[in-house]
Amino acid sequence: MDDCLFCKISRGEIPSRKVYEDDEVLAFHDIRPAARVHFLIIPKLHIESMLSVEPAHAALMGKLMTLVPQLAREQGLGEGFKVNINTGRAGGQEVFHLHLHVFGGGPAAA
Ligand code: 5GP
Ligand code: ZN
Repeated sequence: MDDCLFCKISRGEIPSRKVYEDDEVLAFHDIRPAARVHFLIIPKLHIESMLSVEPAHAALMGKLMTLVPQLAREQGLGEGFKVNINTGRAGGQEVFHLHLHVFGGGPAAA
């Protein structure tokens, strides 16, 4: 996916503040944080949105979900946090590469 923003970030062509990376997954801080801690978890595989998720993606989706509490704790959100997956234009999605928002810790710094 040549001109997908999050594919470019996952290939390292656009810099990001990384939270976690392995062969299949990247997590990085949101450029416009909506909370004191706000990061995104993406599969490196280009999946447009939750509307494109298929049974073949089950293991990858499970991995994304199990990374949520691990990374949230590492980012200081052990008391709790919110997870949001905006899906489709009607669901507020702006970047069409599947991503989980994880945020918490109070209001973003001004
Ligand atoms: P969506 O509305 O698609 O769920 O959210 C996309 C998110 O990506 C937004 O919260 C936005 O701030 C974030 N974002 C957009 N462009 C960039 C970027 O270049 N770098 C990073 N780190 N985040 C971005
Ligand atoms: Zn992509």
